[in-house]
Amino acid sequence: MQTKYIFVTGGVTSSLGKGIIAASLAKLLQARGYSVTIQKLDPYINVDPGTLNPYEHGECYVTEDGAETDLDLGHYERFLNVPTSQANNVTTGKIYQHVINQERQGAYLGKTVQVVPHITDEIKRRIKLLGETGEYEIVITEIGGTVGDIESLPYIEAVRQLHWELKDEDCLVIHLTLLPYLSSTKELKTKPTQHSVKLLLESGLQADILVCRTEHSISKEQKRKLALFCNVTPDAVIEALDVPTIYDVPLMMLKEKLDKITLSRLKLSAKTEPELDSWKQFLTRHKNPKNELQIGLVGKYVELPDAYKSIIEAFIHAGAAIECRVRVQYIHSELISEQNVAKKLGELDGVLVAPGFGDRGIEGKITAIKYVRENNIPFFGICLGMQMAVIEFARNILGWKDAHSTEMNPETKHAVIDMMADQKNITAKGGTMRLGSYTCEVSKDSRAYKAYEKTKITERHRHRYEFNNKFQKDFEKNGLSITGINPETKLAEIVEIKSHPYFVAVQFHPEYKSTVLNPHPLFVRFLKAALTKSLGK
Ligand code: GLN
Repeated sequence: MQTKYIFVTGGVTSSLGKGIIAASLAKLLQARGYSVTIQKLDPYINVDPGTLNPYEHGECYVTEDGAETDLDLGHYERFLNVPTSQANNVTTGKIYQHVINQERQGAYLGKTVQVVPHITDEIKRRIKLLGETGEYEIVITEIGGTVGDIESLPYIEAVRQLHWELKDEDCLVIHLTLLPYLSSTKELKTKPTQHSVKLLLESGLQADILVCRTEHSISKEQKRKLALFCNVTPDAVIEALDVPTIYDVPLMMLKEKLDKITLSRLKLSAKTEPELDSWKQFLTRHKNPKNELQIGLVGKYVELPDAYKSIIEAFIHAGAAIECRVRVQYIHSELISEQNVAKKLGELDGVLVAPGFGDRGIEGKITAIKYVRENNIPFFGICLGMQMAVIEFARNILGWKDAHSTEMNPETKHAVIDMMADQKNITAKGGTMRLGSYTCEVSKDSRAYKAYEKTKITERHRHRYEFNNKFQKDFEKNGLSITGINPETKLAEIVEIKSHPYFVAVQFHPEYKSTVLNPHPLFVRFLKAALTKSLGK
């Protein structure tokens, strides 16, 4: 079958949720039996978001094959339950880097290298790459930014050219817009959408389907008006009302028939009725919790919850699995001190200490871990959170007051966390960490094993520093066990305190692998421990 290409563009404002609409449509097409993947084109010049501060762009999501990507890829995986890869996130930085490297190799000898055709050709090549794997019948490409942005122009032009190259029925443009509501006159306004569709048309691209974000239902007349002025059929005007959770969006889009109109435009049969039983069961459990848990998330980017997107979603998946509503309390690690830690953490059912880089807020993380360790509060440490747990144990149980990570104190005598050997000669910053999926051997007599119910697991990584095996015996003798090890490199991947009700910390990022249909076992287990504590109160 010829691969079908769907493009999702955005107009009027940013942050309308193109990623969620793309993931929801993909979910519906998948539920009807099609193999689908989603790709994100990001117009910024960074080669990938790995070098971006989370305050700028939210969490950096990591794929199985070690790509540092936009957080929308996390949504794609959580909705579709299918891994993404390097090819699923393309940035302007990547495009230009490739073209400039080619130019230096002499690939265009004698020619002037230009945005059209060289940059647009490279964009088209990246779009088609996923289709050419033969794995997908439908490729959905989300174009970052808003129509009219200077940065997006080459992408829109590349889509125009592709549309021209492909048959009409193999290519579809969905435009996501906003219908603002004027409360003084109590009406939805269609003008910004008309303008945004026109702007798209100025670049030679006609929207086939409009998805309109709105706080109020769109009347029949307004749909007709939008259809008329935007040059689409009335059934191609799709209403996207605000809903309580992003996981409602696929069902809302089903009701609005976004999947049906998409298939009919692509001349594809509807195959089966969409199979969404387990999705609906998840939603029922999520919306009808039997218990509620208060979980503290200790981190330094808590002002912007997008910085911890995958962790928050993993709590939603795991919470639904055990029918609990998880109330995440964001706790700024810079504001935790010996004096206030009991007040901040004392009433919580569990505490997660988040990943991170650099030394801002780390003493607060260490103080938090000491408190939960001494007060039997379930604890889950991820990446930097695991490293801080090791440092806390070294300082307060082993008595090494100067224990530290060489990331924060290169001079310490007790470098319990040290740079990985193969990182020591690397100076470049982009894409150079230990990234992507690695195997880990889990010991049978551990809490981690109880969660995974197997000894061989794979998890995704993103770090430069590691537990220093030189001190392993000192830790083990005193009660901090290494319960997960990389079989090839012997890196410690999981540590636990077995005498504590629940104290598990991991060097990898389990949150990246949690999906609606596969809640992550470590999150489920942590919440179960929190529930036991909460019910025992
Ligand atoms: N900064 C730490 C390291 O590089 C932890 C990284 C993380 O939390 N992702 O090892």
